[in-house]
Amino acid sequence: MDRLFALGRKRRARPVKRKDISKRPRRQNEFYRERVHDPYKTRLKLEDPTVCPQCGAIYRDGRWSWKKLRPDESAREEMCQACQRINVKYPAGEVTLSGEFLQAHKDEIMGLVRNTEKVENEEHPLHCIMDIDDEDGNMLITTTDIHLPRRIGQAIFDAYEGDFDFNYDEEGYFIRVSWRRDE
Ligand SMILES: [Zn+2]
Repeated sequence: MDRLFALGRKRRARPVKRKDISKRPRRQNEFYRERVHDPYKTRLKLEDPTVCPQCGAIYRDGRWSWKKLRPDESAREEMCQACQRINVKYPAGEVTLSGEFLQAHKDEIMGLVRNTEKVENEEHPLHCIMDIDDEDGNMLITTTDIHLPRRIGQAIFDAYEGDFDFNYDEEGYFIRVSWRRDE
């Protein structure tokens, strides 16, 4: 049995109160950012604008977006971190969904997963789902970033309750989220 499932059963989730980085005061948030090390983050500052030749996202003013280039603009090409991770199948996060309730409501729940990704991805082109696998009825979702897994877990928890837990490994730059509901 996966250790995460064991964790999920022991504790009723109070996801917003624990380890929720976005709710922390600003100073701690900055500290967190300094220590985070994404191995796929480009060390050199990207030129402004830069376009990802694979997904078409545009880097401008310090962030990636889906805005188009102006007709008079030309951009350097450089692959974004999300596409780099997709190409080598190296996710930054995973979500494991399990339990009898999941089996009974799988289409609905996976619809919510897709929709959560869509909303997140519109704002953040580098946050996306890499793969969805059905492993003996449990759903394993991998992502290109460390933020989307928690958004997915939170969205499912908000809609269906159950047990929601997450564990962020700072050193490895990897987040594991689990959600389970049996009845
Ligand atoms: Zn890309």
